[in-house]
Amino acid sequence: MRQRKVKNLDYKYEAYSDILVWEPEEKRGHWNDLAKGKPIYIEIGCGKGKFISEMAARYPEHFFVAIEANQSVMLRAMEKIREAEITNVVFVPLVVESLADWFDDAEVDGIFLNFSDPLPKNYWYKRRLTYRERLNTYFKVLKEDGTVTFKTDNTGLFEFTMQELQAADLRILEITRDLHAENCPDNIETEYEAKFSGQGEKIKRVVLGRAKERAMAQIKSMAAFNGREIPLEDKVFAASGRAKKMIEEKGKDAVINATIGTLLDDKGELVVMSSVEKTIKTLTASEYAAYAPIAGTEGFKKAICRAAFGPYEVNSYVEVVATPGGTGAIRNTISNYSCPGDKVLTHNWHWAPYKSIAGEMGRGLEHFQMFDEEGKFNLADFEYKVNKLLRSQEHLVIILNTPANNPTGYNMSVEDWYGVKAVLDKVDMDKKVALLCDVAYIDFAGEDEETRAFIPVIDKLRSNILPIIAYSASKTFSLYGFRCAAMICLADSPEVAEEFARVCVYSSRASWSNSPRAPQTVIEKIFADPELLEEARVERRGDREMLLARGRAFNEEAEKVGLNIVPFNAGFFVTIPCDKPDEVCAKLEKKGVFLIPITGGVRVSVASIPEDQCRKLPAIIKSVL
Ligand code: PLP
Repeated sequence: MRQRKVKNLDYKYEAYSDILVWEPEEKRGHWNDLAKGKPIYIEIGCGKGKFISEMAARYPEHFFVAIEANQSVMLRAMEKIREAEITNVVFVPLVVESLADWFDDAEVDGIFLNFSDPLPKNYWYKRRLTYRERLNTYFKVLKEDGTVTFKTDNTGLFEFTMQELQAADLRILEITRDLHAENCPDNIETEYEAKFSGQGEKIKRVVLGRAKERAMAQIKSMAAFNGREIPLEDKVFAASGRAKKMIEEKGKDAVINATIGTLLDDKGELVVMSSVEKTIKTLTASEYAAYAPIAGTEGFKKAICRAAFGPYEVNSYVEVVATPGGTGAIRNTISNYSCPGDKVLTHNWHWAPYKSIAGEMGRGLEHFQMFDEEGKFNLADFEYKVNKLLRSQEHLVIILNTPANNPTGYNMSVEDWYGVKAVLDKVDMDKKVALLCDVAYIDFAGEDEETRAFIPVIDKLRSNILPIIAYSASKTFSLYGFRCAAMICLADSPEVAEEFARVCVYSSRASWSNSPRAPQTVIEKIFADPELLEEARVERRGDREMLLARGRAFNEEAEKVGLNIVPFNAGFFVTIPCDKPDEVCAKLEKKGVFLIPITGGVRVSVASIPEDQCRKLPAIIKSVL
């Protein structure tokens, strides 16, 4: 509704001349004359002043500048301030084109944008208050740790803001898509907020800060960081590089290099399955040179389902999309089953790239504690985090990496899976959950029947839960460098399955396009030839036994020397929980032991060292802890 112009406005404004600033550009660099040393906060569009008056009353130690172009409306705000005898607010009754005309660099501590005009027509986008250039101007006048807090009921404007904040290279400090469902005692309701939430609209809020300082000088930096924190080097490859250098200097026997997550034999050579190598050599030009369909060849799709499901028949609607490695399946799941600004849920012990894959697409990562105090799967924390996230987002991607979890080596039990199912069974039907089972190490955890026993549990979940299996050929077929995997959905309806194939193919097209044909043909050929398939199984069993023997050796010694490890069953890695993992790894490197520091511990790749080194390691690690 259009606001009626208040009669005798000029006359009424005279009564507030002491708190009105008509020429804000003259105050540029001198706001402190009014603020008297108090930190300065701005609200752009203060309306009738409910927010600013309550903020000013709650924080008398702060100083507020309220801006509002509608002078009739602002009169109400000034009346509120006067009635409440508040003295730490001034008003600017003007349209702000650029805050930088009114405020000097780093003069402001915080900016509030409450229920700004969504300006829905596309060609108005540059005038929206969260357009990237405006965001940049806000951060010009904000101090180093200054923040912009943006609140709206309008979903379109909120998603637009998500995209603009990335373009402006800003960091999300806090985000919620349903503010009122969360316990936010800091929230002060505005007039619009009360009105829209009363109509059932969800209130969204995001707090933005500057991206962390870059390691490179600005002048030497060309990249668009888009809010991401990109380290100068990859931890794993850097540590492995240092180990190799030490081997050159001091010889092989002086070094234990347990950094890289690939299976090496006892001589340190990459394990390549001979059944796979042999099949690669049979490939004709048309079997490797031609593009494969984006979703994968039909033969591959059938074969990979046999590989993934093992002895289990599934009742769900299955669709398959080929991806370049399990990484591609993770990427496609996040891009299609969550929104920018959402958080993806996984366990606290997880493969580090989950965070960068999510961050690359403007999603965050939340974790639940994987283990409780007794070392059991922490279902209670899982449930708490699922419900917490679903209060403020409509979609949720959950990633569970099991069996032989990286980095712990934990296998979720069937009981754990039933617990997960029970939690998901309770999710409201208007929320949508994609449950990504990242089974990257499944074939190194035990026999097919046992490692795949979770499949009947996730087969045919409720229709708002979509299980997706990320099945990678990197480890299982020693095809790491060939980039081959599949994402397989177990949908409750043919529509959801068909949509899965469509959206994932679309995402693939928009990122890597087709996946390589050669490894798909190799897998298809192995599954078409019973002898070859048996040969592959026997080889893999041998490799698995070698790996399990290493893990057992590490465990036994750890127990003997009293080294605490995170629950381990099988797989490529063992993890030792500790404080200051970077320092621990640096000390170990001086002793010729190269491990990977991760959040909350250090990771040992038992896949890359022989059994005798697995036996030696626990005592050495214990000695530096
Ligand atoms: N998931 C986990 C837990 C991993 O450790 C890895 C690789 O190390 C992957 C997924 C993806 O591997 P790739 O893309 O080679 O299949």
